[in-house]
Amino acid sequence: MAEFKHVRPAGEAIFKDRYITKIKELMMPWQEGLKGEFGLVGAPLSKSSISHSGSAFAPGSIRAAMQSYSTYSGEMGVDLKDRVIVDFGDVDLHPTDIPGSQEQIYEGVKEVLDTEAADHWLVLGGDHSISFPSIRAFRDTFGRIGVIQFDAHHDLRNLEDGGPTNGTPFRSLLEHQVLEGKDLIQIGIRDFTNGKAYDQFAKEKGVTVFTMGDVRKQTIEDLVDQSLKQLEDQVDVIYLSVDMDVLDQAFAPGCPAIGPGGMDSWTLLEGVYHAARHPKVRAMDIVEIDPTVDFRNMTSRVAANVILSYIKAKN
Ligand code: CA
Repeated sequence: MAEFKHVRPAGEAIFKDRYITKIKELMMPWQEGLKGEFGLVGAPLSKSSISHSGSAFAPGSIRAAMQSYSTYSGEMGVDLKDRVIVDFGDVDLHPTDIPGSQEQIYEGVKEVLDTEAADHWLVLGGDHSISFPSIRAFRDTFGRIGVIQFDAHHDLRNLEDGGPTNGTPFRSLLEHQVLEGKDLIQIGIRDFTNGKAYDQFAKEKGVTVFTMGDVRKQTIEDLVDQSLKQLEDQVDVIYLSVDMDVLDQAFAPGCPAIGPGGMDSWTLLEGVYHAARHPKVRAMDIVEIDPTVDFRNMTSRVAANVILSYIKAKN
């Protein structure tokens, strides 16, 4: 084949002798028999959001952002380039039926888990309502489940005032006995962002709540350690639910519910890394990114790094 002197053929690396693997290259479309350390599925539902949200586009934007980062951790001196992320695509959803779509997310996540194609699982929302069916599918597959939720909000709204929305997933999990209050830990709950009734409901149900004040006063490692210690002997598996609005608006402009006084990116990345090192942590969802209002894809870029923190932890 003739070689050009000044034209690089499409798809060929710029630096041929020191090619950098991008995290997106670890993703392989699922096919029968394919196994990997990680399985990934999108749950692109955002019609259930209380406020305007295009988070249905987030599974695509997070996958795209994974093209921007290399697989090499200089801090650990480890290249993750041999890991496989089995990409199952996105759950097929009904165009208008919200409870029906949530049921489809349950069925879709369950189907994916039943392949046993991976050791660890990543679910990309969507708004936070997807965590109810997703966590239910994990509970039905793996047994008693503990959840560490990184979030500005309790998400404990009652279901009578508007049905299952992105404000209700943890209320639904508690009321349907999928999750026990003492198996739910919320980190990053923010002032002037939640009603008093939800704080009281959390206390009544025995939910552990660490506010942003706690995050400021203690290290995220200490808070995660306390959370893991509480959960490890009482549950079979631990699920991390990462609502990107736990971040300060400066770091996550693409969240529908932005606000000041939240975490910085580093704290979230460290928190996820520290939690995911625990062997009982087997799954994580990432929710509440609306790429249509994001700035330079910043929020999806944080999400790609949250995934890298998880993968790094399982090294
Ligand atoms: Ca939330």
